[in-house]
Amino acid sequence: MSTVKINRIIAMATDPIYVGTGGFTIGRVDNTIVRDPITRIPKIPGSSMAGTWRYYMALELVSQIKEKQPHLNDIKNESDKSFDGKINQFIQSDKCDSFWKTKADKEWQKYCGNLIAKISCAGQDETSQANIENAPFEKNKENKSGHCGHCIVCKAFGFSKNDLSNQGMLFFSDLSILFFPVYTRLGTKWITSPKLLNKEIDIAENQIKTSKGDERHLNLGWLNLEVSGKHNISDVEKYKLEAKNIIIVPDSLISQIINSNLEVRTSVSIDPITGAAKDKALFTSEAIPRGTIFCGEVRGFNREGGNSLPKLGDIWRALNDSKQYYQSLGIGGMTTRGFGRMEILGELS
Ligand SMILES: [Zn+2]
Repeated sequence: MSTVKINRIIAMATDPIYVGTGGFTIGRVDNTIVRDPITRIPKIPGSSMAGTWRYYMALELVSQIKEKQPHLNDIKNESDKSFDGKINQFIQSDKCDSFWKTKADKEWQKYCGNLIAKISCAGQDETSQANIENAPFEKNKENKSGHCGHCIVCKAFGFSKNDLSNQGMLFFSDLSILFFPVYTRLGTKWITSPKLLNKEIDIAENQIKTSKGDERHLNLGWLNLEVSGKHNISDVEKYKLEAKNIIIVPDSLISQIINSNLEVRTSVSIDPITGAAKDKALFTSEAIPRGTIFCGEVRGFNREGGNSLPKLGDIWRALNDSKQYYQSLGIGGMTTRGFGRMEILGELS
C-alpha cells in the first residue's frame, strides 16, 4: 500500500515570469511562453517547479550541513569495510548516525542519506552511468559529481542510475493562473473565471461581475465590458488579494484577456566578446505579469517497503525551508534581466 498526501501550492509572481517554449514565434513575439494546449492560457509546467525546488532544497540542505558532514572517504571506507561496499546498508545501519561531525538542527537535515548530499544532487545528473553503490563517489570525465541517490533530495525528487531508478516521492502539477492582474480605469484589478475558480457562477457572455456590481461598464485593458452585477467572492486574503479587486469574467473570454495583457518586452542581445549590441539582435519576449496568482499541487507518495525513505513530513518541512529561494533566484528564463521571482504563499504540511 502506498499513501498519497496532496498539498496545494499557491504562488504570486513578484516579477514578470518567463518560462519559454524554446523557439516558437507567435505574431510579433520571438520568445513565447508555455501555454495549456487546449485553453491557450499560459502556465508554469510542473517539471519547472520540480527542477527549481529540487535545486533550492539541495542549496538549503548543503548550506546548513556542509560543516557537519564527514569526509567522503570516511564514508567510503566504512561502507567498504563493514557493508561490502553497499552504501545503502550503511545508511540504514545504527552506525550511520555517529558519522556526523555535529548534529544538524532540523530533523529533515539529520536524515542519514544526507551524510553524502551535495549540491550536484540537483540539476542534470553527471554520473547517471554509475551504479547506485558507487554513485556518491563517482565523477565524470570533467571531474563533476552527480546525483548521490541516497540523500533526501535524491529520494524526494528521484534519480536514475545504471542499476537502479527511483521515481521519487513528489509529483508536481503545473501551476495554473488563478487570478490575473489587468489595468482598468479604477486601477489594477484581478480577473478570474468560473473554470479557473472551479466554481459554478452564473455569468452571461460578454459581461463581467465585480464586488460592487454598479460600475455599468469597465475596461479590462483595452476591452470595455458591461458589468452585470455583483459576485460573492470573499476569502481571498490567502492570495494576498482583496475581494473588492476581484472581477469575474466568462470562461469564453478569460484566455483572450490574459493573452492580450501579457507583458511584452523588447531586448537587445549583447555580444559577449565585444560587449556591444549584436547586429539585428533586437528580440521580443512575452511574460506572465507581476502580481499574477498561480495555483497547483504537489503530491507526496509514501511507498511500501520504504523504511529507508525519508518521512513525508520531513519532506514537506524541507520544501517549506527552501521555498524562500523563489523570492531571490526565481523560476524560468531571463532571471538576470529582472524576470522570474515569485513567492510561494502558505505552508505545506
Ligand atoms: Zn543526493
